[in-house]
Amino acid sequence: MEEVDVVIVGGGVVGLACARETARPGRTVCLLERHPRLGTETSTHNSGVVHAGIYYPPGSLKARLCVEGRDALYRFCETHGVPHRRCGKLIVAGPEDDDTRLQDLLARGRANAVNDLELVDRDFVRRLEPNVTAEAAIWSPSSGIVDTEALVRALHRNACSRDAIALPAMPLVDAHADAGGEWLDLRTPAETIRARAVVNAAGLYADDVSAALGGRAFTIHPCRGEYAELVGASRSLVTRPVYPLPARAGEHLGVHLTPTTWGSVMVGPTTRYQQHKRDHEGDRLPAAAFVEPTRRLLPTIRPDDVRLGGTGIRAKLSPDATAFSDFLIERDAEQPRLVQAAGIDSPGLTACLSIARLVSVLVDEILT
Ligand SMILES: Cc1cc2nc3c(=O)[nH]c(=O)nc-3n(C[C@H](O)[C@H](O)[C@H](O)COP(=O)(O)OP(=O)(O)OC[C@H]3O[C@@H](n4cnc5c(N)ncnc54)[C@H](O)[C@@H]3O)c2cc1C
Repeated sequence: MEEVDVVIVGGGVVGLACARETARPGRTVCLLERHPRLGTETSTHNSGVVHAGIYYPPGSLKARLCVEGRDALYRFCETHGVPHRRCGKLIVAGPEDDDTRLQDLLARGRANAVNDLELVDRDFVRRLEPNVTAEAAIWSPSSGIVDTEALVRALHRNACSRDAIALPAMPLVDAHADAGGEWLDLRTPAETIRARAVVNAAGLYADDVSAALGGRAFTIHPCRGEYAELVGASRSLVTRPVYPLPARAGEHLGVHLTPTTWGSVMVGPTTRYQQHKRDHEGDRLPAAAFVEPTRRLLPTIRPDDVRLGGTGIRAKLSPDATAFSDFLIERDAEQPRLVQAAGIDSPGLTACLSIARLVSVLVDEILT
């Protein structure tokens, strides 16, 4: 039986960042990913926005780790050649939006130490994005976009260069703890691996993985986000992320426009809870459903300018779209050799490196 110090379950951006961060000389780190390729689930099915940290309740893990993670992510992208643009983003208010909502959001961002936010007027928006209509907006210069596929590859390369080993096509099937509580035996179809510490970074399946490892009980609620995309010349109508004001309650950010580093423009995502974790395409909204929300931001859009895009599924800890739920990052109370990195919905892409730092401290506690 193979014996290793740290096993990470899940090869998305969070698991890969944890592999990179927990690896050090004299320590064996191994990552299990059930798919043949790394990062094929939520990590590459999202908006690819580097969030500044505006939206989350002050004091929450999401608020703190987003601000820390954003800066770490820009540094990582620069050092490792990951395509990205620190292009800033606009959160715009239309004529029907109450002014106080913009003020409230600005105050929340500042409470989260997003210190470069500015309240700007219609002329400012027009100078930056001449095709976008807005009465006023929040300008967030430290928001940006990143190429998620390239990020996954760079995190993998960097983890390997620190001697962590990633095993794709290697699902965790089952586990049990030895009687003395010194080890966890992890069963995969190929072999059983004996680990001194395990990190649960299994995304949509973190609840199943926690149960298999004897960790605390929780439920991951899959919540689909659907996208359309702009076609043809309409792709040049916007050059940076443009968001509406978020829904009053909870954290749905509203259907927004996000240019990608490769020149397309995504419209979305929507928010819909569903029963199945793997259902990306069933009962999809038609492209026509995205025209009206797009027009609120870009009034010249015509139905022919919009076609269907991809989907992504959020791993939510709450079944209620209007409720805030924080990341679950902790040493498990029921299985002390387990560190949970669960409920990592947005801004988990932005925060993957700061999540990994926190996880690494908890892993050190287990191993010392
Ligand atoms: C529609 C949408 C838009 C988003 N937009 C943004 C955004 O703009 N900015 C942002 O910061 N965040 C965004 N997010 C959130 C972000 O995508 C996630 O927080 C992040 O990708 C989570 O990464 P992860 O590694 O935890 O999960 P995943 O990428 O899902 O990785 C988990 C991995 O675990 C593997 N796994 C599961 N079970 C097992 C097992 N038993 N054995 C082995 N492997 C297993 C899976 O195969 C998977 O590869 C968005 C999410 C969605 C859905």
